Amino acid sequence: MTQDASLITLALSKGRIFDETLPLLKAAGIEVAEDPEKSRKLILGTNRPDVRVVLVRATDVPTYVQYGGADLGVAGKDVLLEHGGQGLYQPLDLNIARCRMSVAVRDDFDYAAAVKQGSRIRVATKYTTVARQHFADKGVHVDLIKLYGSMELAPLTGLADAIVDLVSTGSTLKANHLVEVEHIMPIASRLVVNQAALKLKRATLRPLIDAFATAIPKE
Ligand code: ATP
Ligand code: MG
Repeated sequence: MTQDASLITLALSKGRIFDETLPLLKAAGIEVAEDPEKSRKLILGTNRPDVRVVLVRATDVPTYVQYGGADLGVAGKDVLLEHGGQGLYQPLDLNIARCRMSVAVRDDFDYAAAVKQGSRIRVATKYTTVARQHFADKGVHVDLIKLYGSMELAPLTGLADAIVDLVSTGSTLKANHLVEVEHIMPIASRLVVNQAALKLKRATLRPLIDAFATAIPKE
């Protein structure tokens, strides 16, 4: 929990999560004072003296909230699955920053043959926990190669047979001669709350969570 018991700290990542969280904040009567794309500040004030926003990497949001560097935050299901969710209360699926987790291969690669029961496949991904589970469920042995970005390059350079990555329109895959061969799961962002903060700052946090709930986009 952040030090000052009357102060609420919300962790967001720049880009789509920040942008798509703004309407939810607005529904709770909160307006962020600055545009993160135009400022180098990492702590942004709001119209409410008791609420501030901290900007962190998308993958760091669960960590900040888990250890109380922030009271709450917004993180992708992809990020939460890799983090594990320890110490986090996840009251809402916010239905924002939607995409899917998929397996993709080179368009000339015979994926069906490569994933026959008992076979072995080399998979590059940022999402090793999800990928390991997915191939274990299929009974396929997997050699995982951890990457932090530009996953599309792995099958093109021979680093891996397949990738597990997030897909929204599929245009990045297409531009790199890759095809989506399996949908693993749909992905959206969730509200995560520090469990101790929820108890100690409940009077402020509960109305905020309820206001977010009313503003979740339908489709
Ligand atoms: P960076 O791009 O700075 O390396 P990142 O990829 O973790 O960081 P974003 O690209 O902003 O950060 O993604 C944040 C979250 O948005 C992801 O964790 C995922 O849940 C979701 N997301 C990622 N890519 C897409 C996409 N193409 N369409 C919709 N949502 C996406
Ligand atoms: Mg990204």
